[in-house]
Amino acid sequence: MGGVTAALPANTFSGRLLGWYDRQGRSFVFRGTKDPYRVWLSEIMLQQTRTESVVPYYERFLRRFPDVQALAAADEEEVLRCWQGLGYYSRARNLHRAARQITREYGGAFPRTAEALRALPGVGPYTAAAVASIAFGEPVPAMDGNLIRVFARVTDERGDAGSPAVLRRLTDAARGLMPPDRPGDYNQALMDLGATVCTPGTPDCAACPVREYCLARRAGDPEALPVLPRKRPPKPIALNVLVILHDQRVYMRQRREALLKGMYVFALSESAPDEALAVLGFRDASIGYAGETRHVFTHRVWEMRLWTARVPGVPPALAGDFYTLAQLESLPIPTAMRAALILAQKELSP
Ligand code: SF4
Repeated sequence: MGGVTAALPANTFSGRLLGWYDRQGRSFVFRGTKDPYRVWLSEIMLQQTRTESVVPYYERFLRRFPDVQALAAADEEEVLRCWQGLGYYSRARNLHRAARQITREYGGAFPRTAEALRALPGVGPYTAAAVASIAFGEPVPAMDGNLIRVFARVTDERGDAGSPAVLRRLTDAARGLMPPDRPGDYNQALMDLGATVCTPGTPDCAACPVREYCLARRAGDPEALPVLPRKRPPKPIALNVLVILHDQRVYMRQRREALLKGMYVFALSESAPDEALAVLGFRDASIGYAGETRHVFTHRVWEMRLWTARVPGVPPALAGDFYTLAQLESLPIPTAMRAALILAQKELSP
């Protein structure tokens, strides 16, 4: 696509785009603010989560942690609890670590450039560019899936959009057309265009404000772009989930593994239920099968068989603890445990 960017009249492309955005851009609670804390929070929440689903979480999180100082002062378990239901909990842990870093190293003021923002935990090139452009007006394109798709189509890029060289070309194209006075709006307009008009699958080119500059539309097959690397399907993992009950309480442990780190889960094992119980030190359990469920993560699927296990006693030096029905309310428990949690609640209800 060499030379294509220069051939696109930047003022008209961005003018058309921003005119459309001003008329019919989407309005969300997290739009219209330049507060970097709010922009950052919404961008982190919007990763891997649909915009409509984010709104109630965003509002609840802000009520509890209205600024970066409040977030930095909280303990991690409380932050995870506030994130419960959104998934991808490493986002919450990184948010919390980043808040502490901002208060400790920057006196509570956000770094103002994409480059400096990238030094924060959990802030990748996309999030750094989104915060820097929206909150601080830095002219950097925020290359999320929407911008990649729009520019692959506008420039008729036929290379693999997963390759660094192609991503660099698309980023250059986006930067070349960026208006210096409204970089944040430009990025958000492109996100909206990608989400509502230039969608994956068949785009609605007739409704597109930049259609006359779009080379893939002229080529006649914009739906074929971008060319994406083939994704591997998530790997299935068969797990037994044991809801271990004793004295009106249920066993849970806090995960140390990278996946769902810090969250509380029931006993999980790839071994048979009786073996899993023996490893934990439980004896003479009465075990009952309670059904199946599954949870899809990015790279794996947990195929879970649920069991109840009533145990007569608690082994010494047990990793994890037993909790009452009321105590379960205050633990951060991931959505992957939802079916098991319902089972535990039912078993513990008077
Ligand atoms: S003309 Fe069609 S393919 Fe091109 S940017 Fe607009 S919606 Fe996307």
